[in-house]
Amino acid sequence: MTVPLKLIDKFGRHIDYVRLSVTDRCDFRCVYCMAEEMTFLPRDQVLSLEEIYEVGAAFARLGVNKLRLTGGEPLVRKGILSLIQRLGKLDVELVITTNGSQLPTMADDLVAAGVKRINISLDTLNPERFKELTRKDKFDQVIAGIDAACKAGFKRIKLNAVILKGRNDDEVVALVDFARDRGLDISFIEEMPLGVISEHDREEAYCSSDEVRAMVHARYPLTKTEEQTAGPSTYYRMADSESRIGFISPHSHNFCSECNRVRVTVEGRLLLCLGNEHSMDLRELLRSEPDEEKRAAMLEKALIDSMDLKPEKHHFDLANEPQILRFMNATGG
Ligand code: SAM
Ligand code: SF4
Repeated sequence: MTVPLKLIDKFGRHIDYVRLSVTDRCDFRCVYCMAEEMTFLPRDQVLSLEEIYEVGAAFARLGVNKLRLTGGEPLVRKGILSLIQRLGKLDVELVITTNGSQLPTMADDLVAAGVKRINISLDTLNPERFKELTRKDKFDQVIAGIDAACKAGFKRIKLNAVILKGRNDDEVVALVDFARDRGLDISFIEEMPLGVISEHDREEAYCSSDEVRAMVHARYPLTKTEEQTAGPSTYYRMADSESRIGFISPHSHNFCSECNRVRVTVEGRLLLCLGNEHSMDLRELLRSEPDEEKRAAMLEKALIDSMDLKPEKHHFDLANEPQILRFMNATGG
């Protein structure tokens, strides 16, 4: 049964896709996402699994049809499988973005819990580079995770690769080949200026989607498709493969006008836009009302009211200090 959508913002955009961050913690320290030394949130500031479930269920009642669990690394949160099993019973498509490290042991359970699609991040096929980019020596574990996911029977698996100039831009075609060989989709992501990092200069490392697309096109001519998933990727196809090539381009192609999503941070802040601070505190609301039914009604009203806060667009600027001091792991990428 499809529930009529009740979340429409003042620019007429229909919000039917929610990204829930289930933890700010991670077993990796990717150079574009985190600092090497990170301080994570104290437990009491993080939504409990029950609270996350209540938020997900409220969105589903309001007609949202896609929930993505992300983080941090969602699969390192203790008890996450029980949350996934519960969310998997809602009338929504449940998807996960993961770094792949836990998939060798969890892929089958995720499929059994109703997860149909999964995004796995992979920026390089070179173990040494992997260590530089993630600051962890877990390349083999991630490849084993991707293999386990391929065997587990997800409907669709997509790789996500952030391309940085001088770091991994020479691997674009190799990553496409890796995806083609396994029948996976792959999206290339432009780095976004979230959080203050000192490991590299984001402006120097910036590699536009147009440049990446030209590299792929030189090897495999690409045809643009009108296919839209709920996400921000623009998709292309190759003549001789089922794999789709996506580009997520927050800088070069502003996708705000078609934005259909909101995020909930691990602290329960509803973020109406990735590049702005417009938000609503759901944690306080959740913790202020002990009665479950009343809480559910309050939550629904707050989510509907929050639509008026969604800004028209974001303004990322590589040359200046990040306007957004949140790190990607806290935001829920
Ligand atoms: N840990 C999981 C993972 O890595 O897939 C989920 C969370 S991660 C924040 C989600 C996605 O955001 C990953 O594909 C990652 O590469 C991407 N990401 C992280 N920081 C980014 C940044 N500054 N700019 C663009 N993408 C970023
Ligand atoms: Fe962890 Fe994902 Fe951020 Fe990498 S991108 S540090 S795997 S949360």
